Amino acid sequence: MRILGILKPPSKAEHERGRIWAASALAALALLMLMLLVGSPPPEEADLLPEALRASRIPDFGTDVAACRSALNGAGFQTERTPDLSEASGCGYRNAVELTQSLHPYSAPVISSCAAAAALVLWEREVVRPAAQRRYGQQIARIELAAPAYQCRLIAGRRDRRLSEHAHANAIDIKGFTLANGRTVTVEAGWRGLERDRLFLRDVRDGACDYFQAVLSPDYNRAHRDHLHFDLGRDDMCR
Ligand SMILES: [Zn+2]
Repeated sequence: MRILGILKPPSKAEHERGRIWAASALAALALLMLMLLVGSPPPEEADLLPEALRASRIPDFGTDVAACRSALNGAGFQTERTPDLSEASGCGYRNAVELTQSLHPYSAPVISSCAAAAALVLWEREVVRPAAQRRYGQQIARIELAAPAYQCRLIAGRRDRRLSEHAHANAIDIKGFTLANGRTVTVEAGWRGLERDRLFLRDVRDGACDYFQAVLSPDYNRAHRDHLHFDLGRDDMCR
């Protein structure tokens, strides 16, 4: 017989309770909508935010240099455009940049594709700096390049005579790291050297694989016994 109770017309007090409930629900809904409006910027404002600098954007940066440079700039890094170069041998580059302000100083100018520069600074920030802190309890004072980023040459240690990614300024070779205390850790001596050097060098090699397409170390072949090679070419390798 409960159903009869429900069908019974509401008393005045019940009617009043219903009105209060409906009014509160409306007020809560209005508050929620206000919070949503305040919480997210309107679309035209979102478009003005700097491009995000993160690993998932690196493939797009390969074709969109303006987005790449804007993302680097927004994250506190500086790049300058480098004039295009085209050599008869098939070597050369277009839309290359020089990384003029990074997280760490480099031993020589870093001239590369903007996408490679973006991968490099992400590696410095997300991998090198924390690894130096973890293994040595100090900062890196300078990153030592093994050779200029651009070199017109074939892939080292291979016989198929394919041009190296260096021939398109799309690769970077790292020889070592000078710590804040002045000591230099080289790939050549450190790879099988002191335990903390071995751990640090493997940390920075492994971490680079999150940002670069190919990462080669002394574990790969003799041609890489004294440096770490990073590139954004076709081959997906992490050794
Ligand atoms: Zn290389």
